[in-house]
Amino acid sequence: MKKCKNCGREMLKYEDFANKDLASEYCNICVKKDGKLRTYSDFRNIMVVHLLTKEGKELAEKLGFAPASTQDEAEKLADWVMKTMAENVPEINQKKDQA
Ligand SMILES: [Zn+2]
Repeated sequence: MKKCKNCGREMLKYEDFANKDLASEYCNICVKKDGKLRTYSDFRNIMVVHLLTKEGKELAEKLGFAPASTQDEAEKLADWVMKTMAENVPEINQKKDQA
């Protein structure tokens, strides 16, 4: 099994790979259409938006978080998730320094 070198997500299907390229080291979320890796702030923005969707709220609830209902709450939750991810995936900290 292959994991994304950027976020650590397991890539199970070819759609999970960047540009559906099985040789890619990164997942389809981490890489933009132009082939460049997303930055820390891109991730944070995506997460904030996602947390405010119905799907994001359901997931938060499932995981035992209070679902975010405002932009501010979503940003706080996103910061927490990013911080926790950074502790588990050291590469993210490096990206944060670059961003
Ligand atoms: Zn990834």
